[in-house]
Amino acid sequence: MQSREIRLKSRPVGVPSHEHFELAETTLGALAEGDVMVRNHWMSVDPYMRGRMYDRASYVPPFAIGEPLQGGAVGEVVESRSPDFAPGDLVSSMFGWREGFVAPAGALEKLPRAGGVPEQAFLGVLGMPGFTAWAGLLEIGKPQPGETVFVSGAAGAVGSIVAQIARIKGCTVVASAGSDEKCDWLRSLGVHHAINYKSCGDLNAAVKAAAPKGINIYFDNVGGEHLEVAIENARPFARFVECGMIADYNATAPAPGPRNIMQVVGKSLMIRGFIQFEFAALRPQFLSDMMGWIASGDIKWQETVEEGIARAPDAFIGLFSGANTGKMLVRL
Ligand code: NDP
Repeated sequence: MQSREIRLKSRPVGVPSHEHFELAETTLGALAEGDVMVRNHWMSVDPYMRGRMYDRASYVPPFAIGEPLQGGAVGEVVESRSPDFAPGDLVSSMFGWREGFVAPAGALEKLPRAGGVPEQAFLGVLGMPGFTAWAGLLEIGKPQPGETVFVSGAAGAVGSIVAQIARIKGCTVVASAGSDEKCDWLRSLGVHHAINYKSCGDLNAAVKAAAPKGINIYFDNVGGEHLEVAIENARPFARFVECGMIADYNATAPAPGPRNIMQVVGKSLMIRGFIQFEFAALRPQFLSDMMGWIASGDIKWQETVEEGIARAPDAFIGLFSGANTGKMLVRL
């Protein structure tokens, strides 16, 4: 089978652009005993991939120049030399950024086809971003009814699920996003106060107006000014769930810390970062909760879809300008 893939051509400095990626065609090799051949239907682009484009040690190894990029994908088995998989099986893998691949069966996870949920949901609401939202908010934030939760990047894959789980848990939800359309969508999901951080003028004043008594939980997807504003508006003993800091992912020099960090002491704040796989053992509980909320209509989601492997770099680059509402995906 012929397959096209996207390779990393050079390491971006600042915001990535097309020159850093190349499209290549390969012929998939013959299957060894235990191998499976998969045709991908969908691939994910995620902000964390920007970190893997730097040549530095992190919790995942850097992408190699000249090699296909990796990431979450959902596809269909087309040929199998493993007793665990048969042609037609739906599988998820980390062999994204390519139309097809051959891999050992152990690198694949079989997905259910039932339930009326589209298969690409396993890259979003039922996949890594949904799990990140669920685990970060519930295991670290521990929201209580009547509390106020502030979430940034709220119209994205993770943020939109955080906002809805906070609402389900009986919290007042303050959410920020980068356009009026995104804020309208968030209100339609039951968010109590949606702030367009690009047009509100004074983010600190906007959060203060939305939460005059302060916030109990800040779910941070953005860092930068948002983090400073959250500290400013934190109630004593507020919990900060540090999920991501996308405002700094393309920085060419280390970003300065929040100028008001001293308030962490006086307000007894808890600031806790995490990588979602810390909570991997809780995935069955997550799937049960999320399937239930989807079935009851309590959780809704959106997708922004780019068509075809050649558009994968555009999808990825678009994450940094807010091109997506909900999960950014590429249909292959
Ligand atoms: P999103 O779907 O939220 O896409 C990224 C969004 O970030 C954009 O749509 C844009 O929305 C916003 N954004 C981009 N640049 C900036 C900026 N400079 N300032 C403010 N907002 C910006 O991505 P995900 O939901 O997949 O990821 C959200 C965050 O969660 C990221 O920081 C990611 O790294 C992190 N993450 C962490 C995980 C973990 O295990 N800790 C796992 C998964 C994700 P807008 O229009 O609102 O600006």
